[in-house]
Amino acid sequence: MFLCYVDESGTPDIPGNTSHFILAGLSIPVNRWRECDAALNAIKQRHDLGDAEIHVAWLMRAYREQDQIQNFADMDASKRRAMVESQRTLTLHHLLRTKNHKLYKQTKKNYAQTASYTHLTRAERIALVHELAACVAGWRYARLFAECVDKAHFVAQVRDKTVDEQAFEQIVSRFEQYLQNMGRPADETRYGMLIHDNNQTVARRHTELMKKFHASGTLWTGIHSLIETPLFVDSQLTGMIQVADLCGYALRRYLENNETSLFDQVFQRADRVGNIVVGVRHFTKLACACRICAGHRRAGVNIATI
Ligand SMILES: [Zn+2]
Repeated sequence: MFLCYVDESGTPDIPGNTSHFILAGLSIPVNRWRECDAALNAIKQRHDLGDAEIHVAWLMRAYREQDQIQNFADMDASKRRAMVESQRTLTLHHLLRTKNHKLYKQTKKNYAQTASYTHLTRAERIALVHELAACVAGWRYARLFAECVDKAHFVAQVRDKTVDEQAFEQIVSRFEQYLQNMGRPADETRYGMLIHDNNQTVARRHTELMKKFHASGTLWTGIHSLIETPLFVDSQLTGMIQVADLCGYALRRYLENNETSLFDQVFQRADRVGNIVVGVRHFTKLACACRICAGHRRAGVNIATI
């Protein structure tokens, strides 16, 4: 039995504020779950994060308040937290006084998203994310599946699906094929289940799609090994969803900004058949020279455009 944790990075809206939409799923065998969860918790404990959610995009940002505090890096954790909280309170009061309500609301929201991380300098937060990525890279039994949609390319195609529907169908197909292709005794099926970050809109749509796939297959494969419709969980409470978030983030930042350090780690886990990357696809123009597309082309056939 395999669990595939799914999360998205970027927005499927067109044009939206990201050039790419990524749907990423990381699969592990159920008998490895305990050690994965323990490894994640150990990293969180080392960084004094308790059971805070690891949300990579928020961790990687610069927090201006930290730069405004003199000798911030020299303080201990509780002093850093207190100083940032004080600085943030000042900023919010200032925004209220200047009646900038829109910015006040947005700033307050941003502060809430990063409240668990204020005791870490930016360098420490980046180191934490890299530590997690290295941890995932070391999980040799884990497989990464992802659909990376270049939205400018997507809109140039005649398609009867939305960006999100295409991405979900691809993840389901690749995970299913991975389970089917795995060497196994003839009388024993490898089963898999999707576990998804909860989101009301996505939950309804993916549940309906999955029912359809169970009834009549995807465009690429019949469904024999996947069971159930996706289970939807709270990413704040489920560590492995946070790992899927990290994988999606790493793929998107590679494709959008050519950042390779996190990508190099998580891409090691992309599902491969021989030396061809079959688990991760970049849906983009034929001539793309990125490493994901190059990984598809090794057989001399560009399956990136299929
Ligand atoms: Zn590419």
